[in-house]
Amino acid sequence: VVCVVGSINLDVMVRVDRNPEVGETVLGEAVARLPGGKGFNQAVAAGRSGAQTRFCGSVGDDPDGLFLRRALHDTGLDDAFLSVSKDLPTGMAHVAMLPESGNSIIVSQGANAALSARAAATAVDGADVVLAQLEVPASTVEVALAAGRVAGALNILNAAPTTGFTESLLAHVDVLVVNETEAAALGGVDALLGAGPESVIVTLGSQGSWWKSRAGDDLRVPAFAVDAVDTTGAGDAFCGALAAALSDGASMPEAMKRASAAGALVAMDLGAQTARLCVESLAELVAT
Ligand code: ADP
Repeated sequence: VVCVVGSINLDVMVRVDRNPEVGETVLGEAVARLPGGKGFNQAVAAGRSGAQTRFCGSVGDDPDGLFLRRALHDTGLDDAFLSVSKDLPTGMAHVAMLPESGNSIIVSQGANAALSARAAATAVDGADVVLAQLEVPASTVEVALAAGRVAGALNILNAAPTTGFTESLLAHVDVLVVNETEAAALGGVDALLGAGPESVIVTLGSQGSWWKSRAGDDLRVPAFAVDAVDTTGAGDAFCGALAAALSDGASMPEAMKRASAAGALVAMDLGAQTARLCVESLAELVAT
């Protein structure tokens, strides 16, 4: 069982020609409302990669929360660990999709800030892989990882966004996953490796990924050559599929290959979640 502890948001997406200046209003196209949040995206990717997956997160007591619970069901994930905050609204990401230059995003954390350590510790019980990110309180992540340690689970931390990072998390981490920007912001791979994790994986977009371990492993894994349309969520897919593969008993090189295939499949469609990611297409791409 993979247990993902993290954020769940409603992504409100608007295609727009350019960002407005201060004091200016620009017109965008029709709004698309999609399920998102790093935690939820990674849980969906783990589930679509074939792992039995739990998602532990928090939504508000509102229609957006119901929408997200339904989305969780629709992807076949267990919603038993989705808690409902009485006080805070469902988290929301306001995404301006800009031509070519990528997205500008404003996140209202909402109920994600209320994800409790107790809920996380309960959800982790019985999991063999725990996967967390930093869009929920670091104190909750730390308790989840500590509980995973005690239970003998493999702990994976995707240290994103780095603003949520605290050094004390690293003592509980087996595999740390960061992109290039995050690795630099956190002081570099060698400093991170010295602070607790068994290994660090740096994702490098279309340049692939890099694994370095305390045991001396040092491996570059190339990306799969695909026609990328939108790389939003590629990192989330990578993390979710990595967790699923490691839970399945794959070696790290094999798991990174499957994770890279998941990242590539998500890059082929708009948005962070896509039905294109499934066990069959993963196997097909990995075999190339
Ligand atoms: P993040 O979204 O967190 O910045 P990356 O952009 O590094 O993460 O992407 C994560 C992984 O997804 C990469 O290591 C790679 O395997 C895969 N990936 C990302 N972009 C592409 C792409 N354009 N083509 C193929 N694979 C990609």
